[in-house]
Amino acid sequence: MLLRIPYTTPLPSFPAIPTTATSLQTAITAVSNFLLNTRSTLVLSGAGISVASGLPDYRGPQGTYTLNKEYRPIFYGDFVHKDAMRRRYWARSFLGWKGVERVRPNKAHVAVGRLWEGGWIGGAITQNVDSLHTMSHPDMPITNLHGLLSTVLCLTCHTHSERSPFQKELHRLNPTWSEFLEKMRSTPDMPIKRGPDGDIEVPGVKYENFRYPPCQTCLKNSIFHGMIRIDNDGAMGRIEGDGNVPGIVKPTLVFFGENLRDEIKKEAEGKVDAADSVLVIGSSLATYSAWRLVKRAKDQGKKVAIVNLGGVRGEDAFWDDGEGKVAAKYRLGDGTDGVRVEFDAGDVLEGALNILERIDGKRANRKVPLNSLGANRRDIELREIEMYGP
Ligand SMILES: [Zn+2]
Repeated sequence: MLLRIPYTTPLPSFPAIPTTATSLQTAITAVSNFLLNTRSTLVLSGAGISVASGLPDYRGPQGTYTLNKEYRPIFYGDFVHKDAMRRRYWARSFLGWKGVERVRPNKAHVAVGRLWEGGWIGGAITQNVDSLHTMSHPDMPITNLHGLLSTVLCLTCHTHSERSPFQKELHRLNPTWSEFLEKMRSTPDMPIKRGPDGDIEVPGVKYENFRYPPCQTCLKNSIFHGMIRIDNDGAMGRIEGDGNVPGIVKPTLVFFGENLRDEIKKEAEGKVDAADSVLVIGSSLATYSAWRLVKRAKDQGKKVAIVNLGGVRGEDAFWDDGEGKVAAKYRLGDGTDGVRVEFDAGDVLEGALNILERIDGKRANRKVPLNSLGANRRDIELREIEMYGP
């Protein structure tokens, strides 16, 4: 399955489900009802929840696609085959890395971790490449659907390593850029554009002289002798023509035009299959890889709740009564059967946690982790709480 460039324009808003959930308080109640009446909820998070941490999202009002119409993310094929594109990618990524490293989890990440600790959710999948869920709750198992910025891998020998030492190498190989980076950081009004993957665009800067190293494991491997050319400092030599040589290092995040790794795809599908419900937070599901997971859950008759500022791809189909209208059980329900609200996910989850901890806090045996669902599943008495007035 290829990761394709998703819709770049904002999707239209959707009426609240249930129809009473138009205020933050009623949205919180609806989400609480949803979580109180599920046994093992899978959370699927997207860029929207990291906006409060200072990372731009793609399609929101402040999203990269909205503010910077020229923004085009890098394509996998270009990165693999074009030396010049790799120089461009690593230069922009080099400039943006400090900003990525500094980013910290916000209340949405904290709330997801607390929901997991409390047993109100069974696990999580994220489309985000920022590691913020793991930073917030290192013990919570998470499927990083689109990989991570914080690790790099060799496309030939598949050696994984941390990004930070790689960044040090980039500093060493690019002293002029290193100085420029310092200058950039001490000049806050420099006209830079920050991308959602932590890259930075500086108008007028030429990228072709940026240098990057090849994979050190492949470089030492006699099989590739003579196939990886390096300069005196150990940087990859300039490659004319097809640049697909052994030892190319790439961040583990999935580029557009790149296939999702099979084991990640299977892991994500396994979590959907094991869950009895899905809670989407901060995602418009514009990328197919995320949308199809929710579709899969829906096709299995599972319950879905969506908390996202702005529209969601093809969501009419999730709530349809067969005649093109939102089904009455969703519209007129209390959130138990499904929720669709447009509020900040951090606000909603924090509010829901307060309710859950108050009325459901002692139910430690509620926890049904997705990787062992079926083995220790308990018959849990489900209950509903009163809706607050609209
Ligand atoms: Zn290698």
